[in-house]
Amino acid sequence: MITVLSGGGGGAKFVDGLSSLTHDISVIANTGDDIQIYGLHVSPDVDTIMYALSGKIDDKKGWGIKNDTFVCQKYLKSLGYEDWISLGDKDLAVHIKRTELLKAGKTLAEVTSELCKRFGVNIPLIPMTDDYFQTHIELDSKTIHFEEYYIKRPEGKIKNIIYKGKEKAKPSEEFLNALDISDWVILPPSNPLVSIGTILSLKDIKKIIGEKKVIGVSPLIQGRAIKGPLVELMKSLDYEVNSFGVAKYYEGLLDIFIIDTMESDLAERIRGELGMEVFTTDTLMKTRRDRARLSKFVLNRMD
Ligand code: GDP
Repeated sequence: MITVLSGGGGGAKFVDGLSSLTHDISVIANTGDDIQIYGLHVSPDVDTIMYALSGKIDDKKGWGIKNDTFVCQKYLKSLGYEDWISLGDKDLAVHIKRTELLKAGKTLAEVTSELCKRFGVNIPLIPMTDDYFQTHIELDSKTIHFEEYYIKRPEGKIKNIIYKGKEKAKPSEEFLNALDISDWVILPPSNPLVSIGTILSLKDIKKIIGEKKVIGVSPLIQGRAIKGPLVELMKSLDYEVNSFGVAKYYEGLLDIFIIDTMESDLAERIRGELGMEVFTTDTLMKTRRDRARLSKFVLNRMD
């Protein structure tokens, strides 16, 4: 059994590829991006993974449901609501259902499992925690929710990443059970700081994962992110902006690190300075074939 820790971009694409090769996986979704919008509980990474695994994702955008419309949100705007985050009509239906079930007393893990059933997803998709947890970005002028930062990209120096709720949030029971029966943990090409790092910040998780065999894939290719603010975040926190910097972030945790062929010049340094086994391959997932190919490459490195 394998546990995969995932965000909603690179992680969701990778998990989609992996699920075409094996069903012996549990996927743990980052919930640091969760946010209340229009009184609804929006869980961006959970949904992106769920939409990807069900084949319903809007592949062009990389989020949301394909062929969705935005009638409700336009109308909400006319009523004075903000619309900095795009929520389609079908997507809103999911948030309504989630919010209703949460209000009825179900945990986020139970709600996600029920939604997954309705979406025909038969791989366990598990939110990292059922508790309040939000990632915030501290800028020199203000502190804002990561989702708002991701979409608005406001000016200003990033001073810190804050995991709000970290002290009290417990890993979900389902997450701990998945780890219990896993020999391997995969860290896919998700944002290390605000997708994987969020999950790793939960109580005891680093220690438990440290006892497993861990394999990771770098989300940087030639020092650039495919999407999202990883480069800006790494720069601000003084990490070298390339796969060495990512490996440094995972130092002591990763046994094997897969980096893009374009960064193969870093392999020797990662091996020598950080003591990881390093393999290189083409890590860009443009098509579903690429996703399966990269996942296969990862599976083949795990004896
Ligand atoms: P988020 O929740 O939307 O931020 O998504 P993730 O954390 O799962 O993934 C974001 C990271 O995925 C970014 O740093 C991207 O560089 C990386 N990424 C996206 N697509 C690819 C890809 O095809 N290959 C690789 N190597 N990284 C990717």
